[in-house]
Amino acid sequence: MSFQSLNLHPNLLKALTELGYSTPTDVQQQAIPLALKGDDVMAGAQTGTGKTAAFALPLLQRLMTLPSQAEQVSTAFENNHKSRNNIRALILTPTRELAQQVFDSITTYAKYTEIKVAVAYGGTSMNVQVKALNAGAEILVATPGRLLDHVFNGSVSLSEVETFVLDEADRMLDMGFIVDIQRIMKRMSTERQTLFFSATFSKQVKKLAFDILTNPKMVEV
Ligand code: AMP
Repeated sequence: MSFQSLNLHPNLLKALTELGYSTPTDVQQQAIPLALKGDDVMAGAQTGTGKTAAFALPLLQRLMTLPSQAEQVSTAFENNHKSRNNIRALILTPTRELAQQVFDSITTYAKYTEIKVAVAYGGTSMNVQVKALNAGAEILVATPGRLLDHVFNGSVSLSEVETFVLDEADRMLDMGFIVDIQRIMKRMSTERQTLFFSATFSKQVKKLAFDILTNPKMVEV
């Protein structure tokens, strides 16, 4: 199987060729077609399996090809007076290091697109992050605590998130982020697509998946 046969946009394929990716990994082969269709996905995948591209490529493609909700409903007046950044895709990661890594990967995959990506995690300046958001980022990669700081500050709105990715859900729970995740979920529309990745599936992880996914398709590698 090739990336071409997954019907990915030529501008994404160009970036993959440059990176030397020739064959999609197992998790990519299974998850990309489902995510492109708009399905919710529950995937069991460890780090190193290529899970980042498995969610990032379909997410980028949908942002490139689907109009945003804001474009569909807003008047020109509203667009000119937007006070907050409306993120179209949110990726939550448990650690700062993983947030930075996912941000770097997505930025590389998006090299030949117009899509801008921002990253937000603790221990660094809020202002620098707000500037990146104000520069028109449609994708935000964030850790839960810092994301909530931005939400409560008014620098990020989650009401127009079309795709939500929970990366390393098991580690999120181990690190005690359940309440933060619930707070974040409340601010997103139920119309969204959700992609759920975890290396392990304890009872708690399954419960979280059940709470936030709608008719998910399973991917196991
Ligand atoms: P991840 O599991 O997302 O952390 O990816 C692990 C590593 O595999 C990263 O260095 C990726 O750049 C690389 N990678 C992901 N997908 C592919 C692919 N289809 N072909 C070659 N390398 C890949």
